[in-house]
Amino acid sequence: MKFSEIIGNREVVQALRSMADSDRVAHAMLLYENEGCGALALALAYVQYLNCANPSGGDSCGECPSCRQMSKLIHPDVHFVFPVNKGSKTSDDKPTSESYLKFWRELALANPYFTEADLQKAIGIESKNGLIAVAEAKSIIGKLSLASVTDGYKAVIFYLPEKMNQETANRLLKLVEEPPEKTLFLFITHAPEKVLQTIFSRCQSVRVMPLTREEADKVRGMNPFDEDEQYMMFMDLFSDLMNGIMSRDLMSVLECAETMAALESREKQKAFCSFMSECIRKIFLIRQKMPQIADVREQEMMFYENMASKCKDTFCTRTVTNIEKVVALIDRNVSSKMLFCDLVNRMFLSI
Ligand SMILES: [Zn+2]
Repeated sequence: MKFSEIIGNREVVQALRSMADSDRVAHAMLLYENEGCGALALALAYVQYLNCANPSGGDSCGECPSCRQMSKLIHPDVHFVFPVNKGSKTSDDKPTSESYLKFWRELALANPYFTEADLQKAIGIESKNGLIAVAEAKSIIGKLSLASVTDGYKAVIFYLPEKMNQETANRLLKLVEEPPEKTLFLFITHAPEKVLQTIFSRCQSVRVMPLTREEADKVRGMNPFDEDEQYMMFMDLFSDLMNGIMSRDLMSVLECAETMAALESREKQKAFCSFMSECIRKIFLIRQKMPQIADVREQEMMFYENMASKCKDTFCTRTVTNIEKVVALIDRNVSSKMLFCDLVNRMFLSI
C-alpha cells in the first residue's frame, strides 16, 4: 500500500512521512481510529515507505522487492497480531494470529478498511470474542529475537490491543519499552480507553480522523463483504421497530428485539446499536430543522421526516443513552435477549 492510495487523512500521512524522512521513527505508536477509517492502511503504507529501497516524491516505489512483499503482506520482517479464538478454520487448540494468517491476508488485501466484524467473519469466529492471549506474546518475542531477514525495519502491526489481557501485556511490556534496534510496534485501536495503561503510556498516539461522506463512500466501494446487504437489513429492522413503536404494537416491537438478539455475533449486535444511534441522531437533527447535516439518503427522507414529526427530543436523547448502555453491557457478556428486550421496552414507553 502506498501513501497515495490512502483515502482521506492527508495530515496523518504527512506526519508519518515526515517522521520517516527525519529519522524520528517512534518505536511504539498507537493509531486511534473510529472503526473503518483506515488506521491499518496507514500503518501498512508507513512500514512500506520505511522499508522501500527506492522511495521518491514522499512515497514508496511500489516496485522494489520490499514493496512487492508488502503488497502481498508477506514481508518476512512485518508481523501481524489480531484477536482470535478457537474456531472451525484452524485445528490449533491455542490459536494465535499465525493460525489465521492466511485469512487475515485475504481480508486485508481485499479491503484494508475492514471492520472487526469483517475480521471475525473472515476467520470464522463470529459467535465468539476475539482475544490476544499470552501465546501471542510468546510468538512475537520469538519472532523479534531473530535477526531481521532484510536490513530494514522489523514491524509488529498489532490490531486491537484492547483485546489483550494483563498477562499478555506484561510479557510484551519490556519489548515495547525497549525494542531491539529498528523495530517498531504499531498498535491500532478503536477504544484507546480500554488499552492497558502500561502499554498506552509507552506509545506515541496518533489520531486517525473520521472520513468525510465522500471518502466513506469510496471505502464502502472497496468492501466486498456485503456492506450494502447489511445496511439494508439494519434499515429494515430499524424501521420495523420504529413503526411498531409508533403504532403501539408491543408484540411486533418485542419481535424486533428478538431479531436483534439473534444477530450472529456480539460485534454485529454492537454494529446494529451504532447504526440505531446514528438513525436516532438523524431523527433528532431533522427535528432541530437541520436536515442538511443529518446526511439522510434521499429515498429514506420520508421515513425520517415522519419519525421526526412523532418523536420527542427526550425520546432521542434517552434512547441514545440507553443504546450506549446496551453496548457496554454486550461487552460484559450480559444476555443480549434481555438487553434488547429492555431497550425496546424503554423506547416503547418513552415515545
Ligand atoms: Zn519500494
